[in-house]
Amino acid sequence: MAKILVNDFKSIVPSEIDELVKLPGVGRKTANVIASVVYDKPAMAVDTHVFRVSARLGLTTNAKNPLQTERQLIKFIPSELVPRAHHWLILHGRYTCLARSPKCSECPLTKWCKFYGLNKKLTLKK
Ligand code: SF4
Repeated sequence: MAKILVNDFKSIVPSEIDELVKLPGVGRKTANVIASVVYDKPAMAVDTHVFRVSARLGLTTNAKNPLQTERQLIKFIPSELVPRAHHWLILHGRYTCLARSPKCSECPLTKWCKFYGLNKKLTLKK
């Protein structure tokens, strides 16, 4: 990778996603992290937390893969907030909206959460 960076990119880590993914071992998620964290660009890296939390909250609709999630999120989150929103979603997924047992009872987002709303309706019907 070092040789490619030196030879093809004049020793500068590129800031564009299309160029970053040309580097060996760099996939779209990593490229988005670099663009967002290093260059403060409105790039949304979608990991398992971002994917799950976005879907549960209803920020995405029927997103089948990380790329669809990324595109839907980028469309609606103001560009200046995207780098921070990425961290908000990850941290919320890591500490509150856990994959197997989301801590809805201590979540401040229940009022807006699609998943919570649906489960509440199902519970009331029983
Ligand atoms: S209410 Fe529950 S499902 Fe919705 S975001 Fe919070 S923890 Fe996740």
